[in-house]
Amino acid sequence: TQILHIVGGGMAGSEAAWQAAEMGVQVVIHEMRPKVETFAHKTGHLGEMVCSNSFRSDDSEQNAVGLLHWEMRAANGLIMATADAHRLPAGGALAVDRDPFAETVTAKLTAHPNVSVSYEEITTLPTEGNWIFATGPLTSGTLGQAIQAETGAEALAFFDAIAPIIYAESIDMSQAWMQSRYDKGETEEERTAYLNCPMDKAQYEAFIDALLAADKTEFHDGETAGYFDGCLPIEVMAERGRETLRFGPMKPVGLTNAHHPDTKPYAVVQLRRDNALGTLFNIVGFQTKMKYGAQTDVLRMIPGLENASFARLGGIHRNTFLNSPTLLDAQMRLKSKPHIRFAGQITGVEGYVESAAMGLLAGRMAACEILGRDCPVVPQDSAMGALVHHITGGAEAKTFQPMNVNFGLFRPVDGLKGGRRGRKDRYKAYTDRAKSVWTDWLGEIGP
Ligand code: FAD
Repeated sequence: TQILHIVGGGMAGSEAAWQAAEMGVQVVIHEMRPKVETFAHKTGHLGEMVCSNSFRSDDSEQNAVGLLHWEMRAANGLIMATADAHRLPAGGALAVDRDPFAETVTAKLTAHPNVSVSYEEITTLPTEGNWIFATGPLTSGTLGQAIQAETGAEALAFFDAIAPIIYAESIDMSQAWMQSRYDKGETEEERTAYLNCPMDKAQYEAFIDALLAADKTEFHDGETAGYFDGCLPIEVMAERGRETLRFGPMKPVGLTNAHHPDTKPYAVVQLRRDNALGTLFNIVGFQTKMKYGAQTDVLRMIPGLENASFARLGGIHRNTFLNSPTLLDAQMRLKSKPHIRFAGQITGVEGYVESAAMGLLAGRMAACEILGRDCPVVPQDSAMGALVHHITGGAEAKTFQPMNVNFGLFRPVDGLKGGRRGRKDRYKAYTDRAKSVWTDWLGEIGP
């Protein structure tokens, strides 16, 4: 008999193992904890929730993650069944009692006749056998290097560096102006992609002082391994020298202040349009580990941003993820080594539920292959399908970033009204359609 090896017993690996085992396949889970630790995990349990204890909205008619819950329950999902069994009161959200949750996931898997667990770190990509790698955002360093050797340095990221995002309407345009550096850009869209906020010398010096003094979140032990210069936090740049930012993201070159063309700014903070609508702008190169309160105070010192309202604050965290649109096929196999699948957050989804969902699919796909059964294409109009389609082909490979499930990933339903008023009907139509195609798919793939 062929064995399915699953590396990583987190959200995705546990679900993948359960699904394959329930289909009759022998599974070995290779989990490095508790021998090798991560900075976020605290136990040696399978399915440990590393941070919040929420699976987010449980509304399967109006919410995309709630729909994902529904689809996973319909597919005999271990993670959902266990979350339901250890549910805590939390209104419309599904909050979970984390310790009994992980203990139950571990107990159910270890008690399954088709599952065994080997507590060891896997450090290479095997050359044969059936494998699913579900090693998550904190994939161990040695394995990360082995994956990178296979995929190329460009195709495996180790960090998410998030620059703060600001609502356009809260930017003071009597101080800021629209211009791309050196007026680059062919189209109107490109020329209106940047806003600039000027600083004189005194403002710049005060800004640097505030940056140096601000409260910061510390990196966790081991979190900075592989830390690259391309995304240094602004406060670290400021620590390297008071002029570093002025020669980096705040350089004043190639720009003319539209309000005072004769005064050369000492430094310029540049913002880039963040969405097609032009309602959001991010601050270019301003990833930061400043704490949220300090962050808003310091950023509002920037001329033009005194009343800025933030859609998202900046941050930097460890997150190992593949450029899946270029690397994986629709069956979640590594194109260059099709005996290896990836699942979970490392495939470029974000969140406990999404990670478990990708484990569910990978487990079923791998089991079908081992059993010599056809695995029908996951329907794109289900939440599962919308997500897997996004990461394995739908997303723009060049700017690929980890993704939560959301209705923006769904194909439109014909004949429905757009806009705010039609939203409730639209979401209901998405979820009705999804449930129907998902149920059909489960019927086709069989027990
Ligand atoms: P994990 O659940 O991390 O599982 C991966 C497993 O692989 C781990 O058990 C690890 O020990 C093991 N492993 C790694 N390398 C090896 C190796 N070489 N050999 C053997 N085993 C290995 N999502 C949310 O929805 N809510 C949150 O609040 C949240 N907070 C987060 C906080 C932090 C600090 C991080 C890093 C992530 C957070 N996430 C959160 C994102 C993410 O959804 C979770 O990390 C989720 O657990 C990912 O599931 P996974 O199965 O892909 O990875």
